Amino acid sequence: MLKLDFHPAGRHFLQIPGPSPVPDRILRAMSYPTIDHRGPEFGALGLHVLAGIKKIFKTNQPVVIYPASGTGAWEAALSNTLSPGDHVLMYETGHFATLWKKMAEALTLKPEFIGLPGIEGWRRGVQADMIEARLREDKNHSIKAVCVVHNETSTGVTSDIASVRRAIDAADHPALLMVDTISGLASADYRHDEWGVDVTVSGSQKGLMLPPGISFNVPSQKAIEASKNAKLPRSFWAWGEIIEMNKSGYWPYTPNTNLLYGLHEALDMILGEGLDNVFARHNRLAAACRLAVKAWGLEIQCADPAVYSPVLTGVMTPEGIDADAVRKLIYERFDMSLGTGLGKMKGRMFRIGHLGEANDLTLMATLAGCEMGLKLAGIKVAGSGVAAAMDFLAGQKVPALKVAA
Ligand SMILES: *Cc1c(COP(=O)(O)O)cnc(C)c1O
Repeated sequence: MLKLDFHPAGRHFLQIPGPSPVPDRILRAMSYPTIDHRGPEFGALGLHVLAGIKKIFKTNQPVVIYPASGTGAWEAALSNTLSPGDHVLMYETGHFATLWKKMAEALTLKPEFIGLPGIEGWRRGVQADMIEARLREDKNHSIKAVCVVHNETSTGVTSDIASVRRAIDAADHPALLMVDTISGLASADYRHDEWGVDVTVSGSQKGLMLPPGISFNVPSQKAIEASKNAKLPRSFWAWGEIIEMNKSGYWPYTPNTNLLYGLHEALDMILGEGLDNVFARHNRLAAACRLAVKAWGLEIQCADPAVYSPVLTGVMTPEGIDADAVRKLIYERFDMSLGTGLGKMKGRMFRIGHLGEANDLTLMATLAGCEMGLKLAGIKVAGSGVAAAMDFLAGQKVPALKVAA
């Protein structure tokens, strides 16, 4: 039962891989009064955030901002570019890739799901050679789009998007490349233009450190061209009018004004720290977290060290141990939320988020909560993950902070 009078002392540890903790600076920025979305001040805000967000996606293309969760931006990507019955190649990395495929079916597309069989596909990144081989077979170019998830939040695996681009080019295939980086953006390096992505999809409540409620599409010129002939019905999601009005900093409808204040602040924080410093911090915390998991003697869900996620770590519980029971115990005893096992991994794993507003001490507290919880759940840990992570973090030189000009 939901206990509405439950106010534990101290801060809740929101260690799920999104929504991630929202920094006080952002919460304060969002508390400013809502302004007239057609008034003179608003246009300046709109232009500022629309320009700043391009740096995060590493693009010169327009970025479309929707007042919607990431799921809405998934629908926008498909409905703006495709027509009923279109064949799309989608790669199964985990639960989120599976949900996107279900959406494609609901939108009357014909998704073909490829990937490694069984649980193996949920432990490794996208195998670009499989995509290349499939596209080479598609001599008459019936496949209209290739859809992949950059950071699979259900498993803790980050795929190599540049390799997918190379695979499409090697097969000399005209399919659009669509990428979900809802949980990767602003935590893992992402390069919309350089990687030749046609539609990038992202959201606010993961690496951007905002509450849920805004999401993004970044269309390439090729995707914008495709949108002119695409026949799937769309109205709210249609790029054209939004991109046109965004040129002056406004939207065709009422945008999410206070979340845009938050985005303004988040951009200031992320670009102030410097994107490379942000990525290095995530990599460092993720490495410390993995050392802890190994010291406990537990298995990391991602089976390929080359594609470990900087955003989250999936921890498999020993055979016969219900991971959700461990999560529940940790929540009740230590007021900390960990991510649940999704889809095929239900009950078999928990996920530790180390993204966004995270530093050495938030990670150490998180690992301490996990270690105590594992012991309380009767799981025999091999050694102290907390000690292993501390040794790593205390021994590691933090890269000199580059102050942004
Ligand atoms: C969170 C997430 C989604 C879903 O986004 P919502 O904001 O919950 O609609 C989709 N894909 C990935 C990879 C995610 O991490």
